[in-house]
Amino acid sequence: MLITKGMKKDAWSKIIDIVAQIADKRPVMRFLVKKAEDKLWKDIVEEENDSIRPAQELKHAFVRNLLETTEKHLIRGILSKDVFHRMVKVFARNVFVKDISERDILKGDRKDEVYPSFLVLSPTQLCNLRCPGCYASSAGNTRSSLPYSIVNRIIKEKVDLWHSRFTVISGGEPFLWKMEGKGIIDLAREHDDNFFMVYTNGTPISQDLAWQMADVGNITPAVSVEGFEEKTDLRRGKGVFKRIMEAFQYLREAGVPFGISVQADRDNWDEVTSKEFLSFYFDEQGTFYGLLFQYMPIGRSYTLEQMVTPEQRLEMFKRNVWAVKEGGYNYIDFWNQGVMTDGCLAAGRMGGYFYIDWNGNVMPCVFIPYHQDNILQVYERGGTLNDVLYSSYFKEIRKWQSGYAYGKPALEKDNLILPCPIRDHHEAINAILHNHYRIKPSDEAAKEAIEDKTYHEGLIGYDQLLKELIDPVWQTEYKNTV
Ligand code: SF4
Repeated sequence: MLITKGMKKDAWSKIIDIVAQIADKRPVMRFLVKKAEDKLWKDIVEEENDSIRPAQELKHAFVRNLLETTEKHLIRGILSKDVFHRMVKVFARNVFVKDISERDILKGDRKDEVYPSFLVLSPTQLCNLRCPGCYASSAGNTRSSLPYSIVNRIIKEKVDLWHSRFTVISGGEPFLWKMEGKGIIDLAREHDDNFFMVYTNGTPISQDLAWQMADVGNITPAVSVEGFEEKTDLRRGKGVFKRIMEAFQYLREAGVPFGISVQADRDNWDEVTSKEFLSFYFDEQGTFYGLLFQYMPIGRSYTLEQMVTPEQRLEMFKRNVWAVKEGGYNYIDFWNQGVMTDGCLAAGRMGGYFYIDWNGNVMPCVFIPYHQDNILQVYERGGTLNDVLYSSYFKEIRKWQSGYAYGKPALEKDNLILPCPIRDHHEAINAILHNHYRIKPSDEAAKEAIEDKTYHEGLIGYDQLLKELIDPVWQTEYKNTV
């Protein structure tokens, strides 16, 4: 996440020095947290030139919430001191401060070079659940997995090439991945200066697995929920919610910080943005962070009918600003909070990422299921991750990002509440996909979608309505404040 434009390494190191003490100095914990928050306010909001102030305030609120949640969880005893110290060392010092500053140095003034900050990797398509619409089950009956040695190489290579030590593991169900006798825990142990966030359906998390995560100390699981019990079981299967509650209990006992991953659609958006929902998961269950994705019409049985309407999306935006700024929750509403990242993160832009699936296909984003390169073939040819990063396909998407908002002066940025080239500007991604003859759909549903005229026209019509409704909000709440 891009918190400040120029990474102020020394200022952030000092803030982390303060934070590092809180677990061991309980009597002055509140004082230290407050001191760190004041410094953060100065650094993120007051000293940031050429910025959109409400956007900086939102970023400050997010980091403040992380700090205050850490304090609460340490006091409650659901974040272990050892895990906390590993997080400070690996996530705060390595991933956040050191890697960002190293990447800035590497880039220097070279306009055409980019250094992504993370990758999303799906090492396996295997899953024990069958949720409707899941992209992992879009490719028919295949059950592909990447070899451990390839995943290992990718993790090592991205550190060497880009100083990137943060990896998001997605699925299938990542905790079912076992190749060459090794899985996720082995990967985390082998790369103990890296940090891993693992999307999971939660059902494989046993007491033993929770303690293994505590032992390695550089993993946080983000567990999928669809609302409360009824809505979660309706999509994921009967009894899944109860299994998730057990998993949360094991994670709390082991002191492992965990998050929730939520998909909002036309049926559950109201529930997953309600105060009751936030209070249940964050205050009662001890969720550390939440990631809210709006349903994207890709994957098996895609349908535009399940997307939140433009009006629902606007209401979600308002509720989320409240949740982060006033409610004190670390709940990120993707797309609606594009100001947090200066827009679209896809195609490996600076601070951004790309996505590799279980077949080795490399996509600009989890939500753009079209690839030009396959990492297994790139490696066979003697190439590296950089061959993909500098492909014409990825460069074209980065060109769109820079023309839209990323890296532009504050006054020239286009609407960051609508940052997405596939969802909010469907014409843009459609043109890129059709201009590159080497681009292939990554699954059956993607093949169907690219030839589906009704799908494209529907999305373009949806974007038009979004623009009419949300452009005025961008203008009054963000743009006019510059
Ligand atoms: S393409 Fe859309 S979903 Fe993907 S990173 Fe960009 S804004 Fe996010």
